[in-house]
Amino acid sequence: MFDRTHHTNEQYMDIHITFPVQQWFCTSKGELTHTVIIHDVSIRPMLALSDAQQMLVETVRDIAEREFAENAGSWDGEKPKPNLETLAENGFLGVSLPEEYGGGGMSEFEAILVEETVGRVCPDTAYALPDMGAPRAVAMFGTEEAKEQYLPPVCAAEDHLAIAISEPEAGSDVTSMNTRIEEADDGELYLSGEKIWVSGVEEASAAVVWAKFPEGLGTVIMEFDQPGVEIQQHYENMFGHTQSQFHMEDVHIPQKNVLTRGPEGFKEQLKSLNWERLGNAALCNGTAACVIDMALAYAQDREQFGQPIGDFQGIEWKLADMAKQIQASRALKYQIADTARRENQAPGRLETSIVKLFSAEILEDVVSEAVQIHGANGYQQGHPLEYFYRFARGRRIAAGTDEIQKNTIAGGLKEQGLPHLV
Ligand SMILES: Cc1cc2nc3c(=O)[nH]c(=O)nc-3n(C[C@H](O)[C@H](O)[C@H](O)COP(=O)(O)OP(=O)(O)OC[C@H]3O[C@@H](n4cnc5c(N)ncnc54)[C@H](O)[C@@H]3O)c2cc1C
Repeated sequence: MFDRTHHTNEQYMDIHITFPVQQWFCTSKGELTHTVIIHDVSIRPMLALSDAQQMLVETVRDIAEREFAENAGSWDGEKPKPNLETLAENGFLGVSLPEEYGGGGMSEFEAILVEETVGRVCPDTAYALPDMGAPRAVAMFGTEEAKEQYLPPVCAAEDHLAIAISEPEAGSDVTSMNTRIEEADDGELYLSGEKIWVSGVEEASAAVVWAKFPEGLGTVIMEFDQPGVEIQQHYENMFGHTQSQFHMEDVHIPQKNVLTRGPEGFKEQLKSLNWERLGNAALCNGTAACVIDMALAYAQDREQFGQPIGDFQGIEWKLADMAKQIQASRALKYQIADTARRENQAPGRLETSIVKLFSAEILEDVVSEAVQIHGANGYQQGHPLEYFYRFARGRRIAAGTDEIQKNTIAGGLKEQGLPHLV
């Protein structure tokens, strides 16, 4: 509801805010002219979605709020398998993976909608969605047999596919990796090397492994129970997730499990990383939305100096800055996803690096300001914001660090300048 008491200026009709706030408007001479009380104004939808997309978002939001909200923030590093099963039962796990392999057959745009929507309620569940990680690489580059074997169990929440890129001596500098694939005289392929920091190995039957073929970088699917694979160590990261190190010695890779190779292989593979970056942005935006929801609720509830702290301008401005950042990041992400959908191709590196960087940076800012709004309450161990803080920190490192995104952006700028509008 919008109560325009003493207020006639149409330009203020478009204020979108979800909790009661007093707005003071002044003339240019600084005289106070009137007060506007805004309460319960629902935010105007930021996207012009089709009826089907709107229904998708509403249905997924309904499931998430009903089924995931209660345990959100309490998974403590564990995979939220029951939530993934619920999504699978309702046909919302892997919405953008091909229908013939158990997915929803929708575009990546819909996957982004789902990831953000789920993330606003339960970031752990959004993190575990399969659309943008290793399964996307299988869907994009896999042989028929590989897609038939690996995608249906993932879409049914029965399996997970890890992605193994990082090595002890090759983190950001991916092209310096030592993991290699040798081709025997009979044409059989054998994989050797060492990977580290790989997420979700404990739940995964296989991983998409990045390795060097004789002709250059490529990717293959490797099963963990193959002879020659040795899991060396599991590490627990700051968020509580397990990341693993494993060694591979002459692990046989069937031809059907080759995803990309050849001179163009690496370039092709990078396209699936672009989707992963966009997925990361959806995860960060969903989490940031969840955090601002908490901060808003707390600001309305907590009273100091005889009034809700949310009525102090100092707190309003924090909330406004948080909303500004989240909305800008969301808009950029959907613009990129929508363009990719219309052009029917993966999004570009420059724009996905920008949105990956931006969404991760602002998530950390938003969580930090939410802690500030919560005061000592928000600084306690076990408080949801502690959990969000730890989660946010990892987003600036995983899937390419901030610095590497900046290098990519600067490289793209030097090559092509800032993209033109048309
Ligand atoms: C939560 C989480 C999950 C992960 N999951 C996986 C996974 O599933 N699979 C996987 O393979 N890996 C995973 N990783 C590893 C991740 O991909 C790497 O941590 C990341 O690529 C950086 O590599 P590094 O840690 O070795 O850091 P390094 O490359 O050693 O970098 C250290 C620091 O130096 C900076 N730096 C390096 N080069 C440059 C440069 N050229 N210019 C400026 N600064 C530079 C980096 O930005 C960083 O700040 C995960 C990491 C995290 C945090």
